[in-house]
Amino acid sequence: MPDFSTDVCVVGGGPAGVAAALSAARNGAKVLLIERMGFLGGSATAMQVPAFAPFSDRTKAIVRGIGWEVLTEHQRRLNRPLPDPDSYNVPQDKGRMDWVPLDVELLKRLYDELCEAAGVTVLFHTFVPAIQQANGLLESIVLANKAGLSLAKASVFIDATGDGDLAARAGCAFEQGDENGKTQGMTLCFTVAGGSRSQYLDYVYTTGDGYLTKRVERAKADGAWELPDSSLVGMSFKSETVAGCNLGHVYGHDATDPLSISAAEREGRRVVEKLMAFLRRYVPGQESLELVSSGPHIGVRESRRIVGEYTLTLDDYLACRTFPDDIARCAYFIDLHAVTTEVAARAKSVTDGAQRSYSLPAGQSHGIPYRCLIPKGIENLLVAGRCLSAERAVQGATRVMPYAFATGEAAGLAAALSLSESGDVRRVDTVELQRRLRAQGAWLG
Ligand SMILES: Cc1cc2nc3c(=O)[nH]c(=O)nc-3n(C[C@H](O)[C@H](O)[C@H](O)COP(=O)(O)OP(=O)(O)OC[C@H]3O[C@@H](n4cnc5c(N)ncnc54)[C@H](O)[C@@H]3O)c2cc1C
Repeated sequence: MPDFSTDVCVVGGGPAGVAAALSAARNGAKVLLIERMGFLGGSATAMQVPAFAPFSDRTKAIVRGIGWEVLTEHQRRLNRPLPDPDSYNVPQDKGRMDWVPLDVELLKRLYDELCEAAGVTVLFHTFVPAIQQANGLLESIVLANKAGLSLAKASVFIDATGDGDLAARAGCAFEQGDENGKTQGMTLCFTVAGGSRSQYLDYVYTTGDGYLTKRVERAKADGAWELPDSSLVGMSFKSETVAGCNLGHVYGHDATDPLSISAAEREGRRVVEKLMAFLRRYVPGQESLELVSSGPHIGVRESRRIVGEYTLTLDDYLACRTFPDDIARCAYFIDLHAVTTEVAARAKSVTDGAQRSYSLPAGQSHGIPYRCLIPKGIENLLVAGRCLSAERAVQGATRVMPYAFATGEAAGLAAALSLSESGDVRRVDTVELQRRLRAQGAWLG
């Protein structure tokens, strides 16, 4: 059996996991990064989520460090203008540091190169179905892949699975969904070619109809709208003719239930088929649109929220609270999509009251304390990204990719620092953690 013993083992190769692995490796740790797909990138590549959410607070970049490095290198390789982190100008910084359209294949290569350069060992096509623990320590995790089952031992583990798989299997407490356990609608994102970016943007800028609500109304009036709700989100053109689509929803499914997620995938494909017909007929410039591909995995907005040493609250968010152990700051709006078709059907658009949307004033942000990355009840495990410890509404803000980068970077550095404390993540000196995060480019306010 191969020996996968390492200092830091990161499970999940999304933005949180990549940033965690890079951060730990660049700080001297031997790092193993495990990913169930054959490429890194998480939602952006495996779910074809088409754009990076804002890195800014609408006055400056507040996610810097490794996230900023990925963002700017992605833009540089596409010969796009580079954003200045210290200034923010509308409209050009929309699309430069906020809502940046993604090139999926470029991102996969970029992540490969960054991990190779940092000396991270990446294990693709490997799923973690189980863990072994004793006396409050996560001792090893089970790896399932073409070679069968094997074990990976590490001094410290980072759960960057989005779903909090590791923490849940270690018996850590978690919450899931709303008060009834229901989670936000999923979306099968897809890529199209043969459209017209200029006609799409002309339409959006002239009418302000970025969510295509008016076009849905027209389709409904024609009796040509066959989907149960009209909550679309948007198209993100990466070139004049090719776009990523984050459109439509699939409701009533649970990403942690295998039968349920299987049904969601099938329903997602049905929705995409209907949306393609809608886009071709009703959206300006998209008459010749072709479906190139849908995401290898349906897009999951919400599943487990691991209960950590601190749970970030809605009050913290609204008060723009700062904590002594902040490892990142967040300025994204509370972006909670509906949980059922009925709720969505009542909403006139994705930002309608039924789906709760609240933005902080420009220039304002709140802290994310290190304690939100420490699951209760286990000594050598950190979480980062979507599954961190927050109330549901706040997770509606912290779940997007820039904050996955930021919390992943902090988790990776903390893991590396914890090695001198036998992997005990609670003994990390948070002042030193903040000093080192700043030194590697992170912005903590
Ligand atoms: C439809 C949709 C639209 C969105 N729109 C945007 C947007 O426009 N901009 C934005 O910034 N964010 C957006 N988000 C949110 C964002 O994409 C994710 O929340 C974010 O990527 C979370 O990062 P993460 O690293 O925590 O998890 P993920 O990106 O989900 O990465 C987790 C990784 O872990 C792997 N994994 C999971 N379980 C296991 C396991 N047991 N063993 C091995 N590997 C495992 C997965 O394959 C995946 O690669 C959207 C999300 C969805 C679903």
